[in-house]
Amino acid sequence: MLIETSCEICGENDWEVLGRRTYIKSEGEKYSPYVTKRYRILFEKWFVEKDHITLTSKLCRRCGLIIYTPRPETKDIDAKYKYIEELGQDYGRNIPHNSLVEIKR
Ligand SMILES: [Zn+2]
Repeated sequence: MLIETSCEICGENDWEVLGRRTYIKSEGEKYSPYVTKRYRILFEKWFVEKDHITLTSKLCRRCGLIIYTPRPETKDIDAKYKYIEELGQDYGRNIPHNSLVEIKR
């Protein structure tokens, strides 16, 4: 994982923080299977031995690229997709918890 990084598009290192979100390992099971898998990637592959992680969204002031940090490296992305294959592929059907319309389909 990369903490500090220059913009992958323009090379500048001038970021505006847009927001932060903390993910708590123990909360992963209360979401849809799609989201639960992403929590498992976070805590079983990317941030092993942590019980929470804060990701920061940042905007490149020069070109407008938006990223989050810590930023996964190629090996982290590879580990993510390998793990998704192991867990069983899904195709992003992320049904909102509170949507009765979706649930009654
Ligand atoms: Zn940029």
